[in-house]
Amino acid sequence: MIIKTRFAPSPTGFLHFGNIRTALFSWLFSQHHKGLFVLRIEDTDYSRSSIKYSKEIEKILNWLNITWDEGPYYQSDKIAYYQSIIKNMIDKKLAYKCYCSKKLLQYKKQQKILRKETSHYDRTCRDINPNTIINKPYTVRFRNPLTGSVTFYDEIRGKIKFQNNVLDDVIIQRSDGIPTYNFCVVIDDKDTHITHIIRGEEHLNNTPYQINILKSMKLNIPKYAHLSMIIDKDGKKISKRNNNFSILHYYKQGFLPEAILNYVVRLGWSHGDKEIFSIQEMKDLFSISKINKSSSIFQLDKLLWMNKYYINSTSNKVIKRYFQFYLDQKGFKIHNKKILNNIIELLKPRCNTIQQMVTLSSYFFQKIEFKTIKHYKEIKSKKPIKILQIITKNLCSLKIWSCKNIVLSIKKSSIRENYPIKNIYMLLRIILTGKNHSPNISSIIEIFGKKITILKILTTINNIKKIKINKY
Ligand code: GLU
Ligand code: ZN
Repeated sequence: MIIKTRFAPSPTGFLHFGNIRTALFSWLFSQHHKGLFVLRIEDTDYSRSSIKYSKEIEKILNWLNITWDEGPYYQSDKIAYYQSIIKNMIDKKLAYKCYCSKKLLQYKKQQKILRKETSHYDRTCRDINPNTIINKPYTVRFRNPLTGSVTFYDEIRGKIKFQNNVLDDVIIQRSDGIPTYNFCVVIDDKDTHITHIIRGEEHLNNTPYQINILKSMKLNIPKYAHLSMIIDKDGKKISKRNNNFSILHYYKQGFLPEAILNYVVRLGWSHGDKEIFSIQEMKDLFSISKINKSSSIFQLDKLLWMNKYYINSTSNKVIKRYFQFYLDQKGFKIHNKKILNNIIELLKPRCNTIQQMVTLSSYFFQKIEFKTIKHYKEIKSKKPIKILQIITKNLCSLKIWSCKNIVLSIKKSSIRENYPIKNIYMLLRIILTGKNHSPNISSIIEIFGKKITILKILTTINNIKKIKINKY
């Protein structure tokens, strides 16, 4: 038997970590068993679905390298097909038309709640002859068995049993003719021969309805695995309305796909104490039996740590591709691509994200705007002109432009002029980076190269001379 799984998101909001975990676990399970993986977009709820979100689903999965073998199937393409099956079910009395208006149903529900009864539909229309009613709007309901029970074995939670007498006659086609989730899901999983359904626990209560529909048509029942919730640090379920859990947000921040996948795979799945998994290891080791029943906590700190780990353990060649992509997005002009490797080498131990690398390296790509004369005052307060001139001259005469030689040259100038080296470094730091903090300034000087370093120092000297500051 070929193992076949699917990811079936509804395009009603941004993908969050819960969605991606469902996609990842389903994909890994199929990959582990050399099976197939299907992408299906569940977009029959027209009022909430948007093409913008379906496109984003594909984009994010592509970015994460979660590849599908079939699809994307769009449920909205199959409405007439679903309707023909529903018609057939009505003919076979597996389903029936319900003519009750929304208003009436609401009223009945309220009455039942007041009487503390379960708020299910009272099945008024279950046995009326549809031929006696003409031209009245209707929904179609599944004729759920009234007795007996539905039992299934959840691969994560074990045996689960629902008594039929607590289940509703669920609506499978709305009054506008559009079939509902519980129906389409069953038909699509059957048509694409899905063997294992891995999804969020919010669908646990839908499962008995879906099994009953399958049984009514004498179809095979797939295996089910319902994943427990992901909660935030306050114990609340993560929501797709909160940007902090949207995958797109992390994409924009410059998280690496490998880091996201490694972080997500550990949300509820484990293999001993191992934390770091390559994609191949995930595929080799993944099993449903190691999925945890309890909820998992989303920890941003851990995700940042994981991303830093991947930034530092991925080749500079790959990091360079990402770095360049985010630099381009920011509109930074890269005149000399050769320096990118050096910048990466310099900054990667300090960065949790690629976006942070872009921010920390902005002075290499942008003219530093000394917006106020505060910086110049700061420089001038160190009485620097003479020392800067000497440093420039000595740097200028360096034959080999290396970090080591730059340090030696600056040290020499410091000793000869009796000017504290700490102050020299600070001066150069402000001149070259516009900041009071930076990585090792001699490495930065090395990356800038001789010409630009000298030019920047000389321009600054000129500007300092122009500024009149009372105190001096
Ligand atoms: N479309 C459903 C959702 O996004 C998933 C349905 C399923 O996996 O059965 O929650
Ligand atoms: Zn009715």
